[in-house]
Parts: sequence; structure tokens; C-alpha cells
Amino acid sequence: MSYLVSIVGRPNVGKSTLFNRIIGKKKAIVHVKSGVTRDRIYGNSEWNGIHFSIVDTGGYNPPNNNIDIIDTEIRKQILIALKESDVILFLVDMEIGLLDVDIEISKILRKCKKSILLVVNKVDNGKNIYHDTDFFRLGFNNYYCISAINGSGTGEMLDRLIEIL
Ligand code: GDP
Ligand code: MG
Repeated sequence: MSYLVSIVGRPNVGKSTLFNRIIGKKKAIVHVKSGVTRDRIYGNSEWNGIHFSIVDTGGYNPPNNNIDIIDTEIRKQILIALKESDVILFLVDMEIGLLDVDIEISKILRKCKKSILLVVNKVDNGKNIYHDTDFFRLGFNNYYCISAINGSGTGEMLDRLIEIL
């Protein structure tokens, strides 16, 4: 049996960028506009000899939609992720900070008994670190600051991920 890890979070937090970094290929489409990953993209990866599959979940935001509303597609993707995954990487965005939609997603995630890592992305150089305390409000114990773009922090996150698989 192979382990399955899902990346969830609101559009534009960097899910596809992280997915590509973890699988080491450009398979997911990364776009400056929100909502480019429409569905679910699967890839395989390995860390310290532990093999796992990883899913980039989409979530389409209609044009001009308020980004602070959790749309039905995102909700659907989260519910599928909760059902099928061994571990969920819940991605939030340090640059933008904590949004209501992140809190909504966290409420759905907290209802389940799956292992969840809260991953604070876009911590490229520590300059946005003052948002840090906001994310504690989400109430997850496992908390990692990373930059999906430059890779900082991702090693520690993956160390923890394979520990809890
Ligand atoms: P998704 O909608 O959650 O899949 O997000 P994407 O991976 O498509 O990324 C959305 C935008 O955020 C793109 O412009 C990425 O280049 C940018 N982005 C992703 N990760 C990082 C990061 O670690 N730091 C910075 N500064 N930008 C990032
Ligand atoms: Mg995407």
C-alpha cells in the first residue's frame, strides 16, 4: 500500500509550486492568476527512502469572485482529500496573511482525524514573519514555514511528513 499526501488550501497560496518542488518536475501548472489547477494532479515522490504519492488539489475561483469565499469546488476537493489521504498539507500564505477562507478551511480539516501539517508558504527571506502569530489561531500543532519557490524549510517539513505517514 502506498501513502497518499494531499496539498489543500485556498487558490494562489502556492499549492502547485510546492507540488512541483516535491515531485521534482513541472507537472502542475503554476499561474499568477488564482484557480488554474482545476482538478486533482497526482505525482510520486520519495524522501529518505519513504515513497508516497502526492496530490495537488485545484479549486476554481470564478472571475471577480471574492477570494475570501470558500467556493464549492474547493470544498469538494478538501472533502476528497480528507477521505483518501494519509496526511494533509494545509497551505497558507505568509505574504497575504490569514484570511477568513483559511479559517473556514481549517474548520473543515479539524473535524477529521487525519494528520495535518500546517504549512506557511512564501516565507522567502523571513521578511513577512510578523504574520506568524495569526496562523497559531488555526490551532494546529504541526507548523512549518517554507518557501515553495526557493525550497527553504521544505526539508524539515518533509522530515516531519514521513515521520507521521
Ligand atoms: P495555487 O493556486 O495554490 O496552486 O498556487 P500556485 O502554485 O499557482 O502559486 C500562486 C502564485 O504564488 C504564483 O505566482 C507563485 O509563483 C507564487 N508562489 C508560490 N510559492 C511561493 C513562494 O514560496 N514565495 C513566493 N514569493 N511566491 C510563491
Ligand atoms: Mg494550483
